Amino acid sequence: MAVVSASQKIRPDASAQPRSVSVLGSTGSIGCNTVDLLMRNPDTFCVEALTGNRNVTLLAEQAVKLGARQAVIADESLYSELKSLLSGTSVEAAAGDAAVVDAAGRPSDIVVAAIVGTAGLKPTLQAARRGALVALANKETLVSAGAIMTEEVKSGGATLIPVDSEHSAIFQVFDFDRADAVSKITLTASGGPFREKSLAEMAAMTPEQAVAHPNWDMGAKISIDSATMMNKGLEMIEAFHLFPVATDQIEVLVHPQSVIHSMVSYVDGSVLAQLGTPDMRTPIAYALAWPARMAAPSPTLSLAEIGTLSFEAPDMKRFPALRLARESLEAGRSAPTVLNGANEVAVAAFLNREIGFLDIAHVVETVLDEMGAVTLGDIETVFAIDAEARARTVAVIANK
Ligand code: NDP
Repeated sequence: MAVVSASQKIRPDASAQPRSVSVLGSTGSIGCNTVDLLMRNPDTFCVEALTGNRNVTLLAEQAVKLGARQAVIADESLYSELKSLLSGTSVEAAAGDAAVVDAAGRPSDIVVAAIVGTAGLKPTLQAARRGALVALANKETLVSAGAIMTEEVKSGGATLIPVDSEHSAIFQVFDFDRADAVSKITLTASGGPFREKSLAEMAAMTPEQAVAHPNWDMGAKISIDSATMMNKGLEMIEAFHLFPVATDQIEVLVHPQSVIHSMVSYVDGSVLAQLGTPDMRTPIAYALAWPARMAAPSPTLSLAEIGTLSFEAPDMKRFPALRLARESLEAGRSAPTVLNGANEVAVAAFLNREIGFLDIAHVVETVLDEMGAVTLGDIETVFAIDAEARARTVAVIANK
C-alpha cells in the first residue's frame, strides 16, 4: 500500500506560507528536534498545538517560545501546573488523553506524530481522518494497526510522510510510478550498542548500557529496541505498510556507521540510496518541507573523513527479536499488534529492572505463541488485542 500517489506529489497548498504544524510528543527526542527546526524557521511555520505527557515545564517553554495556540499535557494531574506556567500568555492549556486526540484534530496543515508507543495511535488516527499531512515518527502506530491506518489515510485524504530515517531514505528514492521495477528495499541497521557482544555478555547488560546508542541520541524505548534490534523488526513491518512491496522484498543489512540510511534495488541492477549524517533533523526537515526541501542544521556528510563504510548480515541468533518481527510480518493479521504490545511492556519491565535484557525477546515470543494471530476487523479489535497482549505480558513477567 503506497502512502503517496503520483497525483499527490504536487500538493496545491504545499507552497502556502506559513504552514501550520502541530507536534504530538513535542517534549521527546523527535519532538525537540522538530521544535528546533520550527524555531529556526519562524516565517515558514506557525504552531497550532504541542503535546507532552509529563514534562510540563518543557512543554510550556516550547509553547511560549513558538507562540503555539495550544499546549496539551496528557497527564491530567499536571493541568494546573501547565495553566500556571502559561498564565499571562495567549497559549491555551488543556490536559488528558482525549485533549491530545483533539489537538491532532485541530486545523493544522502538518501533524508531526512523535508520541512513543501505542499511546500515539488514537491521535495519529485523528490526524489521518481529517486529511492532514502526517509526518510519522510513531512507527508503533503502523506496526499495531497498519492496514487500518493506511485505509484511514486513504479515506481521509491524508498524506503520510515517514520520519524514521530509513523510511525517509526509501521514500526519497522509491519510484512510486514504477513500483514494479523495484526488486527489494534494504533497511540499514547500526546493529546497536551490542552488535559485537556475545549472548552471555548481553544477558548481563543494564538499562544504562542498553540505552547508550553508538550513533543516535533517542528516547529510552527506541534505544532499547535498537539494542535488541526489535527496532529494525518494527521498521520492516512499518516499511511493508508504507511501500508497495511484498514481505520477501524487505531486507535488513547491518551498517554500523549509519551513513547509508536505506536503499532501493531495481530490476536493472541499479541500487539507489540516501546518505547523510545520523541527525534526525534531516528526515524531519524533509517531511516538514515536502515536497520541497528546507535547510537543516545537520552536520555535513564527509565521506573522505569517514573513509570506510562496512556492512554485515544481521545475526538472528543473537538478536531473536528480529526473527520474531519477521515471523509476525509473515503471519500478518494480529501478530504485529501482539508483537508491538508485548514488546512495549517487556521493554518497560527491562527499564524498571524487573527482567534481564535477553528476557525481552523471550517474553515477547511467549506471548506471541500464546495468542496466535486473528483477523483485525476494525480499530476496536486492535485496541482489544493490544490490551490483551499487554495483560498477558505482565502475567508472563510476573511468573518468571
Ligand atoms: P521519547 O521518549 O523521547 O518521547 C516520547 C514523547 O511522547 C514525549 O513527548 C512524551 O512526553 C510523549 N508521550 C509518552 N507517553 C505518552 C502518552 N501516554 N500520551 C501522550 N504522550 C506521551 O521518544 P522518541 O522521540 O525517541 O520517539 C518518538 C517516536 O518516534 C517513537 O515511536 C520512536 O520509535 C520514533 N522514532 C524516534 C527516533 C529518534 O531518533 N528518537 C527515530 C525514528 C523514530 P513527555 O516527555 O512529556 O513525558
